[in-house]
Amino acid sequence: MSRILIIAEHDGQVLNISTAKCVSCAKAIGGEIDIAVFGNGIDAVAAEAAALDSVNKVIAVNAEHLETPLAANWAAETRNMASDYSHLLGPSTTFGKDLMPRVAALVGVNQVSDIMAVNGPSSFKRPIYAGNAIVDVETPADATAVATVRTASWKAAAGSGNAAIEQRAADSSPASHTRFVGMEVEGGERPDLQSAQRVVSGGRALGSEENFGIIYSLADKLGAGVGASRAAVDAGYCPNDMQVGQTGKIISPDLYMAFGISGAIQHVTGIKDAGTIVAVNKDPEAPIFEIADIGLAGDLFSIIPEFESLLG
Ligand SMILES: Cc1cc2nc3c(=O)[nH]c(=O)nc-3n(C[C@H](O)[C@H](O)[C@H](O)COP(=O)(O)OP(=O)(O)OC[C@H]3O[C@@H](n4cnc5c(N)ncnc54)[C@H](O)[C@@H]3O)c2cc1C
Repeated sequence: MSRILIIAEHDGQVLNISTAKCVSCAKAIGGEIDIAVFGNGIDAVAAEAAALDSVNKVIAVNAEHLETPLAANWAAETRNMASDYSHLLGPSTTFGKDLMPRVAALVGVNQVSDIMAVNGPSSFKRPIYAGNAIVDVETPADATAVATVRTASWKAAAGSGNAAIEQRAADSSPASHTRFVGMEVEGGERPDLQSAQRVVSGGRALGSEENFGIIYSLADKLGAGVGASRAAVDAGYCPNDMQVGQTGKIISPDLYMAFGISGAIQHVTGIKDAGTIVAVNKDPEAPIFEIADIGLAGDLFSIIPEFESLLG
């Protein structure tokens, strides 16, 4: 039987929804599912993890050097738990993409990236070429499988479970070559792009950092996260952690609104799993309209104020 350990993503206070999505992937693999919660003062997060359906046990490890999710420290702690498990899973968010390759290197295996479906305990589907091809990847059945889970492909597990929480002392030492200096979060109180249910995105058409302000304004009225195309990021209209797409974030909000974005394949690969896609582009032939559920051919600078006035 598979024994699966998921490394929880959280901010010290709240469990990120990506962890509940990893649980759904783990359920598809089948077997006993444990969640490791690392941090310092993480009782509330451990309780949230324990409430996820199908979880057998939560292992809470409190230690000063695990307080912030420094991959150098969390990977060492994960490696020291690895021998008890057949699978080690993390989300394919920025957090998981930072942590899991280190875990794989320490365990001595290749990482499987972006599991989107499970064929069996050692066989998985993952997208390549910006989602244009799907490959089956197999891991050796006798080795630990270390993988990231493509969060856009999985629904979050429900929260009606009641797993045991085991408090465990840290089994790793602080890394001497890496230390936490500080964290700056862009976007203030706006929902996190990778877990937001609504996202409003702007492209090159915005023309300047100042003009990009109308994207923030509409997003705030909708309670939405803010995204951008790579062209908008490269032009300096907004920070690069807002980039959506192949080399940015892969997201699956219920509602995605694209303003002045052409719909290049590298952008579209980041939004394929969105529920409803609304596109506004002044070019009626823009490729974004091929994947949009609702398309408006027109000037975003007049359409956004109209949207805003409808919202009051
Ligand atoms: C290896 C690689 C990786 C990449 N990764 C990414 C990625 O992760 N994410 C990403 O987004 N891109 C990525 N790109 C870049 C991608 O190919 C496109 O260049 C980029 O997405 C274009 O951004 P855009 O749609 O904002 O700009 P453009 O392609 O310039 O499109 C601007 C659009 O705005 C419309 N427009 C202009 N004015 C208005 C107006 N007033 N009102 C309404 N519409 C208007 C135009 O008709 C046009 O369709 C990658 C490219 C490569 C090669």
